[in-house]
Amino acid sequence: MQKCCIIFMVILMIVPLVPLKASGMDLTNNQEIEEYLRTVETVTGVPWHILAAIYQYEKNIRKVQKGEIPIQVHQNIWVGIGAINDYSHLPFINSFFGGIGKDGDGDGKAEMTQLADTIYSLAVWISEHGDTDEHYIKALQALYPLEKSLVRIQQFSAIYKHNDTISVAGNSFPIPLNYSYSYRSTWGAGRSFGGRRSHEGTDIFARSWTPVKSTSHGIVEIKGWNKYGGWRVGIRDLNNVYHYYAHLAGYSKDLKEGDIIKPGQVIGYVGSSGYGKQGTTGKFPPHLHYGMYRDTGGKYEWAFDPTPSLHRWEKNDKKGRR
Ligand SMILES: [Zn+2]
Repeated sequence: MQKCCIIFMVILMIVPLVPLKASGMDLTNNQEIEEYLRTVETVTGVPWHILAAIYQYEKNIRKVQKGEIPIQVHQNIWVGIGAINDYSHLPFINSFFGGIGKDGDGDGKAEMTQLADTIYSLAVWISEHGDTDEHYIKALQALYPLEKSLVRIQQFSAIYKHNDTISVAGNSFPIPLNYSYSYRSTWGAGRSFGGRRSHEGTDIFARSWTPVKSTSHGIVEIKGWNKYGGWRVGIRDLNNVYHYYAHLAGYSKDLKEGDIIKPGQVIGYVGSSGYGKQGTTGKFPPHLHYGMYRDTGGKYEWAFDPTPSLHRWEKNDKKGRR
């Protein structure tokens, strides 16, 4: 390589790529984070909702200790191969050794403990794969080799994109309060069908065709028949919780997998389907079986008792009615 060419390259690497903002960026609340993600999108082209999804996914699966940020980049990835970790805060040294570590908050330092630096470095790295959805998926596949993780990131990204904000919050009780219903905690009770299984959810008894509302924001992950749950819907929310609505009599019109849902939106109707081959009904009194499962990034998802959440949402909906 020509000497002048090398010098030119070094100069390119030394010049700070983009001084995004003045230093001292804390990114402590949703609004600041969202603003920052949108700025990073204008600079790198990587859609803010993809970055938001990565951030949210990492936040979910990791127990963040005090002073830590949710997105943890491995030191070797940050500084590159053969680099000396003592210089990890120097963006041009990092890029010289093929590390991704860059300065995103404009303080001249590439710090892997700073959320702004980490997000920006990740975005630049993703943008180097190309600028179409396929390219972004390729980049995400490299980051998340487990298909399940990749699916989660795509689901979160779709939820953020649809809502056009990262401030997606709120819940609803699944049955409209002006219908009659009753429920109590039946967590862990025995089952009459399917061998020895314990009850992973709460049964809300109501008349057939009582509307069933989504309890959360989310995306329809699954819809259709299963032999225990009958006609059921599974909705994934941004906390990586899977909401399971079973034994339905029918679905709300046009509901399909991939739909983005908001709390209170009718997704189906109470019924008594299930416990047999497709179409079986009436093996038990009509009720909504509602289950919640948390995905912590591992192989399995863990059921937890939805009853306390149901009580909370019911109380909230009552307050809203007054
Ligand atoms: Zn049940």
